Amino acid sequence: MRQSQLFTKIERNAPKDEATVNAQLLARAGFVSKLMSGVYSYLPLGLRTLNKIENIVREEMDAVGGQEISMPMIHPKANWMTTGGWDKIDVLFKVKSRTEKDYALGQSEEEVVTPLVMKYVNTYKDLPKAVYQINWKFRDELRSKSGLLRGVEFLMKDMYSFHETQEDFEKYFAEVKKAYFKIFDRLGLVAKATEASGGAFTQKISYEFMVLTDAGEDDILYCDACEFCVNAEIAKEKEGDKCTRCGGKGTLAKAKASEVGNVFDLGQKFAKDFDVTFADKEGKKQYPIMGCYGIGISRLMGVIVEKYHDEGGILWPESVAPFTVHLLALGAADGSKAYESLQKAGVQVLYDDRDVTPGAKFAEADLIGIPWRIVVSQKLQADGGDNVELKKRSEKEAKIIPLDEALKAIKARH
Ligand code: ATP
Ligand code: MG
Repeated sequence: MRQSQLFTKIERNAPKDEATVNAQLLARAGFVSKLMSGVYSYLPLGLRTLNKIENIVREEMDAVGGQEISMPMIHPKANWMTTGGWDKIDVLFKVKSRTEKDYALGQSEEEVVTPLVMKYVNTYKDLPKAVYQINWKFRDELRSKSGLLRGVEFLMKDMYSFHETQEDFEKYFAEVKKAYFKIFDRLGLVAKATEASGGAFTQKISYEFMVLTDAGEDDILYCDACEFCVNAEIAKEKEGDKCTRCGGKGTLAKAKASEVGNVFDLGQKFAKDFDVTFADKEGKKQYPIMGCYGIGISRLMGVIVEKYHDEGGILWPESVAPFTVHLLALGAADGSKAYESLQKAGVQVLYDDRDVTPGAKFAEADLIGIPWRIVVSQKLQADGGDNVELKKRSEKEAKIIPLDEALKAIKARH
């Protein structure tokens, strides 16, 4: 894409009403624009990154047998009365029509998916099943001051699984947990799985996946020697305690974290609420065991920025960068030949063909944070060769090399 065609522009100053790094950098670099607290437009660069995160999640959910669907975002009140959510869920948005009918906006969709999937499940032979969607959710959050980390409207992947037995559910649950670690790894993030809130009070298994960041809204305690990790809010442990999980090898440290996903054992609650059953091997009616698996896609975009930035701007991991290469043509130099070669080689390029100073181009490239920078200038071209300057956003050193060698280096890495 030619940068001269991009309708967004870089903003020199951070918006005054944004307190977090992710919101400031994403707004300045033209990835998002705030409509109101907790509600953002995703602009061309931002939507490319959001789609890439979404696609990584999609690939891994498909790999564990999830079937993608899209469910409505506006629901009849009746479904939420059936589960008690209408009165119990404080963040539920309620909408009235002009004929005085009540609706809820989706904040999680057990109320829709349970009767939907069970419509097609008659016997144990129809189980297990897992369906998911990647859709916008609405929550009447009280505090949405953390940029993309807490939206009133936000993008979530929500998967729901249906099982004949507890054993089958637990087997699948473990598989999805593994897929989650793979997703966070592909996004360049290290997540810790906390044995989640509720764990202390119920027998149900659930995990919250936490990424350590000061912008996060959760406090966690984690062992510096083993996997043990809990949400500090409910924990009986405290900072500095010897870890009981690994027999005191490690000590518990406290940190701020952001919950990027979670997996829950829903038991038979929703199936019982909707009275949806299947016939077991003896022909007896049974309620399925359900699991639910959430990932905050738009929150992840914010968390990635919180983890990957420096004083100059964002440093996107290659897997989610809006483009792989930022091509800068300085002064009167023509970058179109390099632009075409890169495109022909299947590399995603943002080509800065604007008539602005080299200094502005360099600063803006750093702010946007595309992983590879290629510079063409008259000085480089004067040598007669095909030389360009190649630099990684994450490194200080630049190399002067022929374009085809630069291409090889980039292709080898992604
Ligand atoms: P939190 O404790 O942060 O409010 P939650 O427990 O309410 O999260 P879930 O209802 O389980 O979260 O939603 C699944 C996932 O959706 C979360 O793990 C998180 O990544 C994301 N998420 C939840 N609320 C928001 C929000 N307001 N904005 C952005 N992402 C969110
Ligand atoms: Mg919440």
